[in-house]
Amino acid sequence: MSDAELVLRSTRVITPEGTRPVSVAVSAGTITAVLPHDAPVPGTARLEDLGDDVLLPGLVDTHVHVNDPGRTEWEGFWTATRAAAAGGITTLIDMPLNSLPPTTTVDHLRTKQRVAVDKAHVDVGFWGGALPGNVKDLRPLRDAGVFGFKAFLSPSGVDEFPHLDQEQLARSLAEISRFGGLLIVHAEDPHRLAAAPQRGGPRYADFLASRPRDAEDTAIASLLDQAKRLHARVHVLHLSSSDALPLIAAAKADGVRVTVETCPHYLTLTAEEVPDGAGEFKCCPPIREAANQDLLWQALADGTIDCVVTDHSPSTADLKTGDFATAWGGISGLQLSLAAVWTEARRRGRGLEDVVRWMSTRTAGLVGLDARKGAIAPGHDADFAVLAPDETLTVDPAALQHRNRVTAYAGKTLYGVVRSTWLRGERIVANGEFTEPKGRLLRRTP
Ligand SMILES: [Zn+2]
Repeated sequence: MSDAELVLRSTRVITPEGTRPVSVAVSAGTITAVLPHDAPVPGTARLEDLGDDVLLPGLVDTHVHVNDPGRTEWEGFWTATRAAAAGGITTLIDMPLNSLPPTTTVDHLRTKQRVAVDKAHVDVGFWGGALPGNVKDLRPLRDAGVFGFKAFLSPSGVDEFPHLDQEQLARSLAEISRFGGLLIVHAEDPHRLAAAPQRGGPRYADFLASRPRDAEDTAIASLLDQAKRLHARVHVLHLSSSDALPLIAAAKADGVRVTVETCPHYLTLTAEEVPDGAGEFKCCPPIREAANQDLLWQALADGTIDCVVTDHSPSTADLKTGDFATAWGGISGLQLSLAAVWTEARRRGRGLEDVVRWMSTRTAGLVGLDARKGAIAPGHDADFAVLAPDETLTVDPAALQHRNRVTAYAGKTLYGVVRSTWLRGERIVANGEFTEPKGRLLRRTP
């Protein structure tokens, strides 16, 4: 480490080889070496001795709705990336919808990049959108650097982002597989949703019945069929229904190129505890029963589910009404995702190494950033979170950084305090104090 500028030392560093006492040498924003804990520090380098706090790779959250430009009263790059940084997330990939314009053409992508560039406290990349009628835009978007394409199989909640029917899905997926791209899918079947009882109102049980598991299962089954037929690469977004797990496991065993994510709220909150009229818990697909949650954890353990992402999707507080039928669907989890998942993982006997694999290494791999993100290893960006895993915090909405401080986690006591977050060797937040934005815009690497 003779040319190192910075050395981070901890008794507990989560590396690809396990949790070890090491010193991590950093030069020009890149990890240059992982050395023994007591390795001599060169005179040129600044030593940060973290003691027993855990040093882990910055999290990579591939599912975030920043909504900027267009719905900046809901969220924006400044606030979302501060919330991310405060929660130990150093890379986020922005979803193509809820902003105006949506990211469905190269021009729209450029607009979003212009807006994000000066506001990003963490690194930011973009998904494109696959809509009815934009097949011709997919390859140019991919060449312009989007990481893949999002499609809905049922109404998205915003008029400017319509869903694909089965034929349109086939056309988009065929085009995407032609250039070796990735389609990420909100999988709920519109016919099953339409057939479910739509009572509306404040009762959570009624909302749950209106978004049944079989809507997810049916949509996932048809997606897997199409992926198999086209040998296309697909990713199931925000899986909630545990009933779909056998289908997914069978498809994976059969060689279908499918990956699956779930979210902190499905892993840590249960339908049984959602109060009636509590719109802050509404998301689609919904938070399901405790028994369903147990099976999601089992699927993470056995690899049927690959990764955990926030699906941070805020709105203004007035849209999170007590009527589950009309309330905006989306949970704001950026800042608390690591603590929430770690708290439940720890209760279930899982380690921080698992959490890092699900929330950093695998998500980096999903978007092809794994050569630079998602691991503490030489050649990777010096992106870190420093975590006190045995300290607790009690969630105070006023302490959250995202724009509308609505949260489903209010009052919960969680394990895991993020002491500081580092981006390319610079500490970007510590104790609630942020530097100026230092995030970069990321493009898919060919
Ligand atoms: Zn989403």
